[in-house]
Amino acid sequence: MSTLYEPTIFSKIIDREIPADIIYEDEKCIVIKDINPKARIHLLVIPKKAIPTLFNLKPEDKDLMGHMMLLLPQLAESQGLKGFRTQINTGEAGGQEVFHIHIHLLGN
Ligand code: 5GP
Repeated sequence: MSTLYEPTIFSKIIDREIPADIIYEDEKCIVIKDINPKARIHLLVIPKKAIPTLFNLKPEDKDLMGHMMLLLPQLAESQGLKGFRTQINTGEAGGQEVFHIHIHLLGN
């Protein structure tokens, strides 16, 4: 059974309905610059599959999540970072504002 979720601003960015500073894209995900950066480098790694939060992850999403994790150090290196922080806000109580899973990558 498939689950349909409300499209968010990130789905619109993925579909090129609204602009964003896209720095990487492949068949599984897109990486954009955060519009309101909290560090010199602040990227968002966003899966093309619209999963609202970590609470909605399914076993079949394991490869997708692993793919994004493996991308993080590559992205950091491509941005000249020697180290970085990551954050995944989960649920309203966890500070999440956009309900389409994304990994924040931050570095100075
Ligand atoms: P959350 O709190 O959901 O983890 O973070 C959402 C992030 O998305 C925030 O850091 C916010 O600045 C960023 N953001 C929200 N809307 C847009 C947008 O339209 N474009 C870009 N590039 N970033 C956005």
